[in-house]
Amino acid sequence: MTSLIHTLSDGMELTIEIKRRAKKNLIIRPIGTHTVGISVPPHLSATTLNRWLRDNEAVLRRTLAKTPPQTAENRLPESILFHGRRLALTTHQDTQILLMPSEIRVPEGAHDKQAALLATFLKRQAQSYLLPRLEHHARATQLFPASSSLTSAKTFWGVCRKTTGIRLNWRLVGAPEYVADYVCIHELCHLAHPDHSRAFWALTRRFAPYTPEAKQWLKIHGRELFALG
Ligand SMILES: [Zn+2]
Repeated sequence: MTSLIHTLSDGMELTIEIKRRAKKNLIIRPIGTHTVGISVPPHLSATTLNRWLRDNEAVLRRTLAKTPPQTAENRLPESILFHGRRLALTTHQDTQILLMPSEIRVPEGAHDKQAALLATFLKRQAQSYLLPRLEHHARATQLFPASSSLTSAKTFWGVCRKTTGIRLNWRLVGAPEYVADYVCIHELCHLAHPDHSRAFWALTRRFAPYTPEAKQWLKIHGRELFALG
């Protein structure tokens, strides 16, 4: 398969992924918000294809509009946040994930396999990033949870119950250290104050003076930590 960049009349750039396997007619299908796939006959010339793309802008736009939302996300993001730093996601021939100073190398392969491998890798990283941190803050605050573990919840960063202890969202592995610290301290302080009362916030800020900055970081970047689902 080859691909080319085609510019629409308003300057929008499309990636056209070309397969040379159609019998007679061009077959066009949506792939992403800026990508369409075209099957063309094996010997169709580039000139003919380019002319067809120019003459059929309405067809291209209709096809783009049909992109199902899940296929638009059906590829790994170009980069992810890790410990608050942006690391490029690249592929390599190895079977293991390799963490480098400025990138994470993922084995080549199908998207869902890559995403699952990456999530497993990040969850393992989260164990060593988040749980020792929680232990450290438990000693500092003298607030000890009944137990501590990670969660894959989609709606909260952490949860604390007197009886079951604290669970932290593994996706916080993407957040900077002070943000991970804030969530740990927030949950620990719930052992003293189960609500979000003034007393709770006063205690949280005593141990995490950077609380406003951490909350702001989560407000801006929190959604991105769900990039892998
Ligand atoms: Zn809370």
